[in-house]
Amino acid sequence: MDLSSSKSAGGGAAAGLAHADQHLVDGVLRGHRRALAKTITLVESTRSDHQRRARQVLAALLPHTGRTIRVGISGAPGAGKSTFIETLGINLIEAGRRVAVLAVDPSSSVSGGSILGDKTRMEMLCQRDEAFIRPSPSAGSLGGVADKTREAMLVCEAAGFDVIIVETVGVGQSETTVAGMVDVFVLLQLPNAGDDLQAIKKGIVEIADLVVFNKADIDERAAAFARGQMRAALTMLRCSSPNWRPPVLTVSALAKRGIVEFWSEIERYRTTMMASGEFDAKRRRQAVDWMWNLIDSGLRHHFHSHPAVRAALPAMATDVAEGRTTPGAAAARLLAYLHH
Ligand code: GDP
Repeated sequence: MDLSSSKSAGGGAAAGLAHADQHLVDGVLRGHRRALAKTITLVESTRSDHQRRARQVLAALLPHTGRTIRVGISGAPGAGKSTFIETLGINLIEAGRRVAVLAVDPSSSVSGGSILGDKTRMEMLCQRDEAFIRPSPSAGSLGGVADKTREAMLVCEAAGFDVIIVETVGVGQSETTVAGMVDVFVLLQLPNAGDDLQAIKKGIVEIADLVVFNKADIDERAAAFARGQMRAALTMLRCSSPNWRPPVLTVSALAKRGIVEFWSEIERYRTTMMASGEFDAKRRRQAVDWMWNLIDSGLRHHFHSHPAVRAALPAMATDVAEGRTTPGAAAARLLAYLHH
C-alpha cells in the first residue's frame, strides 16, 4: 500500500515548523518507522519545549488522521489480551490492513514496566512491518498517560495505520478513559464464575460495545453458559445507543477461533454507527471532551506552580484542617492569587 501518494507530506498545515520537525512530519506521512517512533517519543516527552514542538507536529499531522477504526480492548491480567490482539492483528494484516497497538497502563509509572513492556508478548505481530506496537507511556497520572496515548494514536493514523488497538488492564478508571478515546470498546472476559459479576459490579459492562469470552477452548460449556448469563445481564442495562445492543461472543485467541466473527461484529458496529451518524458524533464529542480535560489539567498545573499559591498553600491547608478557616474561604483566597 503506497501511503505517500495521497498525502502532501505536510504541506501548508505545517507552515512555521522547524526544519527538523518538518522532517519528522514528512517521515511520518511516508510511513517511516523511525520518524514514527521519534515523533511519539517527542509527544511523550514532558519537557515544555518538546511539548511545544509536539503540538506543532501534531497540528501538521491532524489533517491526515481519522480514517481508521479505533478499538479499545480491556480485560484483567491473564484474560488473554495480548494473545487475542496478536491473533487478531495477524488476521487483519493478512487481510491487507496495517495495525497499531498502543497501551494505557497507569500502573506502568509505579512499576517502571508496562503491560506491553515485556518483549515476549505479541512476538509474531512485533515482527511484521504492517504492525506497530508501542508500550504504555509512563507519564505519571492516568490522565497524563491517556493524553499521550491519544496523541500517539493520531501519529499512527497519520503514518497510515488503519486499525488502532488501544489495550488496557482492568484497573481503576482506565477502562472509562480508554472507552473515551476509541470508536468501539471491547471487554475481554474469562468464562469463570465471578469474572463477569466483577465487571457488572464495576460498571464496565455498561460501557462495553462488545463482550468477548476468551479461552472457550478450555471448556466450551462454561463459555456458552457465561455468554448466556452476560446476554441476560445486558438486557437489563441501558444501551448506549438505540441502534446497538452489545453482542456477546465466545472466542479462543490461542486456537484462533471466533476471531473472524469478532471482526465482522466490529465492522457491523462501524457500519451501523456510521449510518446513524453516531460514529462521527462520538468522535466530535471525544475531541471536545479531550480539550476540556487538557484545560482542566492545565489550570491545575498553573495553580500548583504559581509562586504565591505554593507559598500560602501549606499554612492554608493546616488552617482548614484545624477548623480555623472554612474550605470555601481558603479556596477563594488561593484562587485569587492567580489574578495577581
Ligand atoms: P493478558 O495478560 O490479558 O495479556 O493475557 P495473555 O495473552 O498474556 O494470556 C495469559 C495466558 O493465557 C497465556 O498463557 C496464554 O497462552 C493463555 N491464553 C490466552 N488466550 C487463550 C485461549 O484462547 N485459550 C487458552 N487455553 N489459553 C489462552
